[in-house]
Amino acid sequence: MKIEKIYKKADAYLEGHFLLSSGKHSQYYLQSAKVLEDPKVAGKLAKALAKMIHKSDIQADTVCAPALGGILAGYELARALKIRSIFAERVDGKMAIRRGFEVKKGERFIICEDIITTGGSALEAASAIENAGGIVVAFAALANRGFCKRAGSSQEAKPTCKLPNDVPFFALDDFEFEIYEPQMCPLCKAGSIAYKPGSRGN
Ligand code: ZN
Repeated sequence: MKIEKIYKKADAYLEGHFLLSSGKHSQYYLQSAKVLEDPKVAGKLAKALAKMIHKSDIQADTVCAPALGGILAGYELARALKIRSIFAERVDGKMAIRRGFEVKKGERFIICEDIITTGGSALEAASAIENAGGIVVAFAALANRGFCKRAGSSQEAKPTCKLPNDVPFFALDDFEFEIYEPQMCPLCKAGSIAYKPGSRGN
């Protein structure tokens, strides 16, 4: 699936000078909320992702998404898979399962994000599920930013990928662009200042 085309069409492939949540800088930013604001597009993407998961014979009972970014993608994936959907959220900086969501012992979970970069938040959500007695059978995202290895891709994971290599990761496409350490950032060197996506209305 041509994820890049879909993001560009939705004006969700932003160009500028961005400060990412990891502290790194990038010229581009993927604003998934803009893609998922159209339920038809969200449904179509989730169906394609569900199809990949079905084909691999992964059986899951529930989708869990790290809030906020993963919730819409996770909910649509759960709809496509006809399973339950919950989310994990940060409480005092730590990912937790709240709101009365239950995790049964041995319940099988797919952790779903909008985009997986290094997989940090997804891994934290997975730990919250495992600590509550659940089993993480897969990770999923609409797109892989190219740091982790997605199922079916010949591209290997980079050392910065935080996802475990013994749990499959499903994504519709790879979506790669450079990110920089602030001190190495060519945009900073050219004199501009990085800003957080969302802080200027995007
Ligand atoms: Zn910079």
